[in-house]
Amino acid sequence: METRNRRAARLASILAGPRSRTETVLRALVYLAVYLTTSWIAIASSLPGNAVSLVWPSAGVVTLWIATATKRSLPLDLPVLAAAAVVVPVTTGADFDYSLGRAIGAIVMALVFRWILHRWTSLGSAPFAGTAVRSVSTFATIGAAAVVASLVDTVISLAALDTLTDLSQWHTVIHRWSRGVTAIFAVVSTGYLLLASLGRQAWGGSSHQDRSTHPFYLRRRALEVSGVGALTIALMVLSQVNSPDLPISFLLFIPATWVGARFAPLPAATYALATGLVMIGFTLNGYGRFAQVDTAVMAAFLAQTFFTVLFATTLFLSLLSTRLRIAEQEAHGRAELMNRLLATSTAGVLHLKESGEIMVANAAALRLLDVASTVATVEDLHLERVTSPDGTELDPAALPHVRALGGEHVTGEEFRVIDEDGAGERFLRVTAHLMAGGTDGREVLLTLADMTEEHAHTTALSAFAGEVAHDLKNPLTVIEGWSEMLESELAEHAEVESRQVLPMVHRISTAAHTMRTLITELLSYTIARDHTLRLAPVDLGTLVNEVAGAHTSAARNGQTAPHIEVAASHMVLADVVLLRQLLDNLVANAVKYVAPDTVPHVRVTTTPHQGRIRVDITDNGLGIPREFRKRIFDSFYRLDRPGYAGTGLGLSICARVVERHGGHITVTDGPDGVGSTFSFTLATPVPRS
Ligand code: ADP
Repeated sequence: METRNRRAARLASILAGPRSRTETVLRALVYLAVYLTTSWIAIASSLPGNAVSLVWPSAGVVTLWIATATKRSLPLDLPVLAAAAVVVPVTTGADFDYSLGRAIGAIVMALVFRWILHRWTSLGSAPFAGTAVRSVSTFATIGAAAVVASLVDTVISLAALDTLTDLSQWHTVIHRWSRGVTAIFAVVSTGYLLLASLGRQAWGGSSHQDRSTHPFYLRRRALEVSGVGALTIALMVLSQVNSPDLPISFLLFIPATWVGARFAPLPAATYALATGLVMIGFTLNGYGRFAQVDTAVMAAFLAQTFFTVLFATTLFLSLLSTRLRIAEQEAHGRAELMNRLLATSTAGVLHLKESGEIMVANAAALRLLDVASTVATVEDLHLERVTSPDGTELDPAALPHVRALGGEHVTGEEFRVIDEDGAGERFLRVTAHLMAGGTDGREVLLTLADMTEEHAHTTALSAFAGEVAHDLKNPLTVIEGWSEMLESELAEHAEVESRQVLPMVHRISTAAHTMRTLITELLSYTIARDHTLRLAPVDLGTLVNEVAGAHTSAARNGQTAPHIEVAASHMVLADVVLLRQLLDNLVANAVKYVAPDTVPHVRVTTTPHQGRIRVDITDNGLGIPREFRKRIFDSFYRLDRPGYAGTGLGLSICARVVERHGGHITVTDGPDGVGSTFSFTLATPVPRS
């Protein structure tokens, strides 16, 4: 494959873009050889005693040679061509003047053709440009240039023969002209297609051809080629050999149309070229309907015109069908991309007709609206479940798609959707735009983004802020109230007994203490949420012992010290500041929430669990009723337990810390249904290799 491509590239560059002197010379030699061969065909077809041959394929070779020449190769190409164009007729007995005239005609023709092609198409600057050789207008220009160039050649070379002035020879003019058009159009078109194909093989072609190399297509193609070949041969034999009296050559358009519609331009052009040449060959040898006209010149003219029409039809049909196929493939690709995007998008997309018919509803849209996958109309969406975010019912006219149909741009508005079973709800941000639509009414495009989580966050945050304000106000009111009392007491009595003042001062300091605790916990909460995680290996054994030690020693003043048992020995990957806070909160709660007169008994254990380390903190305390086991992790949530002070933030801090370490905290009953066990997992440090 590699060497084949390299060889193709070399051949293409020699034929249409020589890069070195050797390549320039090689190129001239290749074209010269082809020119001589085709001239021989022409000479063989000339009638005895008449210098005008019936076919002249070398006109096409000459034009292709000069049209694809580079500025650097022209100084060699033109003299070589001129010499050959003079020498060939001279060797066959033509006189020198006539031969010179013919050579001049050929060269001027080729230059005129080159000029038109380079002026009106992009073939001159980029002979291998894939799109240029796929365009209908390029080949139409080749056809037009062939008409002009061949006329120039006819005028010049017949002037040299002195036949131009003889009006009775008009049919010679027409014949010669059409002969040139046929040769130039067919040879140059096929030549450019061949060069482009060589170039594509060399420098990578368009992806549209990749499919055709698949074995399945190759096998089908082989069958099709045999079919079209057999049909062509049968029709050729029938029209040219079997029934020469019947004008049925037109039947050859059947396989030609088939080829044009189904094959790429190069094989189509090659097919038409071969079929046309065989047809001309039959005519020149006296076969077929065209050979039966009065003169051989007329027969050749008819056969060549037939050939040109056949060639043009096949080629243009192939160009158009190829373009259609490519457009189809591109459209298919785009549609596939679109479908994939829609299917994988997390945003819901709905495309509705004014009539209510649903044209597109992607998976996300169905999920967000909680509807079945078989929605056909807007009714199936049950939009009566849509409310405004605060739950107020919506007037049907306020639905986004209805408003968009009314000409309004609905951009990023929030709506609430209640689940079909009424159990859950979702908040969606909806955008709706009116689209131009097809023939049967306008269309609306809706996009839906899930805002449920954000909504929950915002709600939690405002609730949190409200609680904080309220909780901070309480102790402040106490402080204010008792300070005022104290003030008036002191103002009224010059000497106040400490017995009266002390309880007030005590209340003030307790309130101040509560406020301090609250502020400290709030800070801890913010840290647990926003503090940047600095993960490092932490020895759980050491850390738990430190935390436990702090709690045992804190209780020494008069109270019975809690009994804290530690069976922790594992290393974990964690932020030590947050982990200490987490363990401290859990142990503090375990020590705090015990029945009066019970000595707290806490046990902290660590065990490997599914690749992580599980930490369990078990106590013999009050336990947590099943129905509260989720909610106690919410901020400010407290169980109604008189005599146990707290802020309700401790466990929400714990939940945050655990979540930020990629785990989940749960609470279950303690052993034998006594007390509770708080459990969570942490990652183990990655072992260093
Ligand atoms: P606080 O302790 O400040 O009230 P927390 O968020 O730490 O707030 O705890 C929330 C609630 O969970 C507490 O009011 C308490 O009733 C209950 N609780 C927490 N830990 C325990 C425990 N180990 N045993 C029994 N109840 C607990």
